[in-house]
Amino acid sequence: MQLTIRTRLTLWYFAVLAASFLAFFWICDLGFRRSIETTVNDASRDNLEAVRRVIDKSQPAGIAKVSRELRELSELWANGAIFEVTDLHGNVIFASGRFSAPQFPLPQPSREKVSYLTINLALLQYRIAQQVVTSGGEDFVINAAVPTEPFDQALDHFRLIEKEFLPLLVVLACLLGYWLAGRALAPVDRIIQSAGDVGVQNLSRRLQVPQAHDELRRLTETLNAMLDRIERSVKRITQFTADASHDLRTPISVIRTDAEIALRRPRSAAEYRESLARILDVAEGTTGLIESLLTLARADGESSNLKFEVTDISAILQKASLQASVLANAKCVSFSPRLGASELLVKGDPAALEKLFLVFIDNAVKYTSASGFVWLRSWDENGEAVIEVEDTGIGIAPEDQPRIFDRFFRANLSRSGNIPGAGLGLSIASWIAAAHRGTIEVQSLLGAGSLFRLRLPLALAGAAAAEPAQTQVSPAVAS
Ligand code: ADP
Repeated sequence: MQLTIRTRLTLWYFAVLAASFLAFFWICDLGFRRSIETTVNDASRDNLEAVRRVIDKSQPAGIAKVSRELRELSELWANGAIFEVTDLHGNVIFASGRFSAPQFPLPQPSREKVSYLTINLALLQYRIAQQVVTSGGEDFVINAAVPTEPFDQALDHFRLIEKEFLPLLVVLACLLGYWLAGRALAPVDRIIQSAGDVGVQNLSRRLQVPQAHDELRRLTETLNAMLDRIERSVKRITQFTADASHDLRTPISVIRTDAEIALRRPRSAAEYRESLARILDVAEGTTGLIESLLTLARADGESSNLKFEVTDISAILQKASLQASVLANAKCVSFSPRLGASELLVKGDPAALEKLFLVFIDNAVKYTSASGFVWLRSWDENGEAVIEVEDTGIGIAPEDQPRIFDRFFRANLSRSGNIPGAGLGLSIASWIAAAHRGTIEVQSLLGAGSLFRLRLPLALAGAAAAEPAQTQVSPAVAS
């Protein structure tokens, strides 16, 4: 059965309260009984002492005198206290009140100390103090009794109150508990209601933060922070989808237009070949774009298939520099790799790292005009592998530098003319660096060139991928 927090709190309240009240009344009852016992014991012992004093005083004058004095004493006693004095053989010297009626023999007390017992004398309960005392060479057994009835009545009265008030108290306290729980949980209801109203259409709506600095305020603030993150992610995804659709529409419309024109009338084989070659060229570019989109979509979904292993990035850089030479030659750009001879072992995915280096190299060649220079350098420093790609290209304006890692962002569009690109390369590079716990620094001067520096933790320094990369941007070229 599903119980609400309010009901559960009330049930707990009921259980704790009932147990506490029971314990409290039990302790009171025990204390009360102890106190009654002490009081009646003291009263009966005092009476026993009074009888003993009378015996001591009148014994020298003989038993008859003792008996007379005891009678006078008994007449002085109020409150139903009675006593009996016998010799060691049970022969009664004097007996007052119910002691005078026939009764079963009482146990023989000791001489050393007063002993106590509770008995019924003609249907009335008494607490008896008894002792054997010796006076003038004679032994006397004294039984001094006080009725326990008045005390028992007080105890019964107390127990009656217990029985009547305990359930009433518990029920009242539970009702109060239920009301209090409802009051305490009312803000939670409000939070549930406002959270239920938030949807994709009104993601900017936030929960009202309570005034009090308590757990509910923290809960509301945490939920609001979560909504902030969700809103940002949804905005990013919406923007990404819109940009991706836009970028895919252009090549597809180029392919379509080319095919339509080619089919408009019969053409020579050479013309068809030319059209098909153009279509193939655009289709290849589109494939690259789709691959980039897929990589970023996987990165967002945390379903990337990166496989981490100890990898020598010097070897990957050698391979990448061969491709860089081809690209640079085609554009008449001078390319100089200065790679360290030793191994640079990092824990990473070789294919992803190669992709990362190629993004930097490709950009450096792409954004550098003919007769410019591109350098590729690598070395190890303080437990890190450092890879630099520097160029003497068009550079990046200071205001654009913080945004070049954003998806679909392309700086210098007017100056870079029709340099192909989708603005996704550096987003992918930054994600790969992050996955390898690496950092990227950028230094660039408009019109002078750019330098991209990547730092990756070396495998021996105990690296394992996990933390986000930091991208640092600095306005001037380093060298
Ligand atoms: P793409 O190169 O496809 O446009 P990137 O994400 O690789 O996309 O780069 C984002 C933007 O950063 C580029 O459009 C360009 O404006 C700028 N950029 C990147 N690398 C360089 C570079 N080496 N020199 C000048 N600008 C660069």
